Amino acid sequence: MTSSVLPTYNRAPLHFVKGEGAWLIEEDGRRFLDLGSGIAVNALGHANPELVQVLTDQASKLWHVSNLYEIPQQEALATKLTDVTFADRVFFTNSGTEACELAVKMARKYWYEKGQPEKVEIVTFSGSFHGRSTAAIAAAGSEKMVKGFGPILGGFVHVAWGDHEGLHNAVNDTTAAILIEPVQGEGGIRPLPDQCLQGLRKLCDEKGILLILDEVQCGMGRTGRLFAHEWAGITPDIMMVAKGIGGGFPLGAVLATEAASSGMVPGTHGSTYGGNPLGCAVGKAVVDRIADPAFLDGVRARARTLRQKLEGLVAAHPDTFEEVRGMGLMIGLKTKIAPADFVQAGYNAEVITVPAADNIVRLLPPLNITEDEIAEAVTRLDRAATALETR
Ligand SMILES: *Cc1c(COP(=O)(O)O)cnc(C)c1O
Repeated sequence: MTSSVLPTYNRAPLHFVKGEGAWLIEEDGRRFLDLGSGIAVNALGHANPELVQVLTDQASKLWHVSNLYEIPQQEALATKLTDVTFADRVFFTNSGTEACELAVKMARKYWYEKGQPEKVEIVTFSGSFHGRSTAAIAAAGSEKMVKGFGPILGGFVHVAWGDHEGLHNAVNDTTAAILIEPVQGEGGIRPLPDQCLQGLRKLCDEKGILLILDEVQCGMGRTGRLFAHEWAGITPDIMMVAKGIGGGFPLGAVLATEAASSGMVPGTHGSTYGGNPLGCAVGKAVVDRIADPAFLDGVRARARTLRQKLEGLVAAHPDTFEEVRGMGLMIGLKTKIAPADFVQAGYNAEVITVPAADNIVRLLPPLNITEDEIAEAVTRLDRAATALETR
């Protein structure tokens, strides 16, 4: 098949024409239960009526004006985010990758303004994913990401995930920041234990360096807390957010403390679309909903149900699955077969999952999936596993 689209993706031959909550409807009428949420994006389900209302209301008034002017919707969303997090300042982007760009610039500028311009290095971890820009691929550093793309942006130091000694050796007088996902997403749903995140915070405090958390995938209620780092009782200096925050509208953000963001004065950064009225109106509705403690209680309850049922699924299919891991509604099924084969079997059973590294099939359902849908989802996953075992 020839397509006019640049062939950078391996796409499944599925054509979804409509979404309703946790369901995606194919052109041919089949109804798929969506445990992928467009890679943790549609956090409140497809075509959420409340979000549709907010989007269409704003769309009929004003979409875009640029950051040459004040944008009340942007102010309102920033205020909401600073109210419910560690942050004092917020910059809005259109994606996680752009959030990564600013996080890197902000950390370096912080040290430059402090009169320590030699502090530029950012320590990152194997298996991490921060986006596809030149800075983001340099941050991840894997051959798969950087090979063929010319000189790699300097200033990133890579440490093996879980290598404490390597981490301590990597931090020196030129270190500006440590950048880590509290739960690796693309890397295969690998949660960082609470004590490791606490240890990172302590190390950063001792050395006076900045802690940057990439919560693009694990944030916005995904783990059952508004942000994953809350479980460890620590706060970062800078945090990247995207995916779930727009509920499907392209929106990202960098949240930071007053101190960490102090170098970003007028003229140092910008984005034409970033923080546009349309995106921020939707984002505000999403954050209002997800930050509600009662909603997060519900996420944790649904996560417990799903986890329990998945433990049963794994026990029932020992030749297909090795274990369940993850936090909240950010779950990995470690497979003994190629994860892509399981994802395909899922399509046949009309349930959508997402592969990840480390032989993981990811489950990232909408945060408001119902208990009945969870039961139905696991029935379909069971059907997929059985079909693979009897082929
Ligand atoms: C998806 C992702 C990104 C990149 O976000 P985009 O919106 O695709 O640019 C960065 N970090 C993490 C952890 C992600 O999961």
